[in-house]
Amino acid sequence: MSAERITIPREMLPEDGRFGAGPSKVRAAQVDALSAAGGHLLGTSHRQAPVKNLVAEVREGLHQFFGAPEGYELILGVGGSTAFWDIASFCLVQQKAQHLSFGEFGSKFAKATHEAPFLDPSSILSSEAGTLPAPRPEAGVDAYAWPHNETSTGVAAPVKRVQGADDGALVLVDGTSAAGGLAVDVTETDAYYFGPQKNFASDGGLWLAMMSPAAIERAERLDAQRWVPDFLQLTTAIENSRKNQTYNTPALATLVTLNEQVRWLNANGGMDFAAARTADSAGRVYAWAEAHELAQPFVADPAERSNVITTVDFAESVDAADLAKTLRANGIVDVEPYRKLGRNQLRIATFTAIEPEDVTRLLNCIDHVLER
Ligand SMILES: *Cc1c(COP(=O)(O)O)cnc(C)c1O
Repeated sequence: MSAERITIPREMLPEDGRFGAGPSKVRAAQVDALSAAGGHLLGTSHRQAPVKNLVAEVREGLHQFFGAPEGYELILGVGGSTAFWDIASFCLVQQKAQHLSFGEFGSKFAKATHEAPFLDPSSILSSEAGTLPAPRPEAGVDAYAWPHNETSTGVAAPVKRVQGADDGALVLVDGTSAAGGLAVDVTETDAYYFGPQKNFASDGGLWLAMMSPAAIERAERLDAQRWVPDFLQLTTAIENSRKNQTYNTPALATLVTLNEQVRWLNANGGMDFAAARTADSAGRVYAWAEAHELAQPFVADPAERSNVITTVDFAESVDAADLAKTLRANGIVDVEPYRKLGRNQLRIATFTAIEPEDVTRLLNCIDHVLER
C-alpha cells in the first residue's frame, strides 16, 4: 500500500494544517477583520482618511512592536521584500556592499548589488546551506547586509553592528521571515525590512522597513547624486509614508490583515510574547528530531537554529517527499523543503500565528505516518 493512502485519524490532526514558510497561516481573527473592513474600507481610495488612518495604525503599531527609538521611521511601499533589494541597491548602497550569503534569500540581494553597474562588485561571504558566516569589517564597504532568518535553510543570524566597520556604514537586515517572530534590537540596524506574509500572517505584495536617521540621510544624499527609477526611489517612499500613503496603490487587504496581527501581537505582550511563543514551538520540533532515530535537525549548531523556520533531515530509509505528500493528503500542507535545497527534509514553519499545540500534533502525525 502506498504511503499516500494512510489516513491520519481526525482527532490526531492539528486544528490548523498550515505550516508553510510563506504565505503562511492567516488567523481567523484576521479574516474576520478583513470581512469587517469589506463594507467601508476595501474598495475605497488610498488617498482618503479611512485608508490613511489604517496605514498610520500599522506604522504606529509596528513602531511599538519593535520598540523603535525617536528618529526611526516605518517606511512602506509596494512590491515585497524582493523590490526592496533593488530599492536598497539604488538608494542605500553608496559604493560597495558586503553580504552574508548562506541560502537563497541572502544570495539574491547579494547578486543584486554585485551586478549593479554603478556599484563596485560586492564582497560576498558565503557558507554552506545549514551554516552561518560572520560579517567582517572591510575598508570601503558602506553597507553590510544579511538575512535575520534564512528561510530556505532555517538558520538564524545575530543582528549586531559590525565592529570596526567604516564610520557611517549602514546595516541592512532582511527580516522578512523573522520580523514579528524573533526578537531584534532595531538600533543595531539602519534598515530592518520585511514583508507581511510570514510572522505577520498577512498576504504578500508590500515591503516595510524600519529605517534609522542615517539610512534616511543616505537615501536623500543618493537621490541627489544618482538616477533612480521612480518606482524604486526610496525618498519618494519616505515622503509618502510620512503622509501615511504609498507611492502607488497598496494592497488594501494585506494592510487590514497585517494591522490585525500587529494589534494581536501588541495586545499579548509584543516582541517578548512572539519570541517566547516561537521558541516554544521550534523547541518542540528540535527536541523531537534530536530524540528520533530517523530524524535530526538539519542545522547542526543549536545556536544557529531558527525559532521561526525549522528544518529536519530524515534517514535514507524515509522518503521525506512521500511523507510530505501523505501529510498534504491529510490537510497538513507546505512542509516540503525549500525547492532548491534538494534534501531529504521537511521544513516546518513555527511562526507566531501557529499554535504550539498544533506543532506537537503535527509531530505526532509524522510519527503516526512513519510507524506505518
Ligand atoms: C519570503 C522572503 C523574501 C521574499 O519576500 P517577497 O515579499 O516575496 O519578495 C525575502 N527574504 C526572506 C528572508 C524571505 O523569507
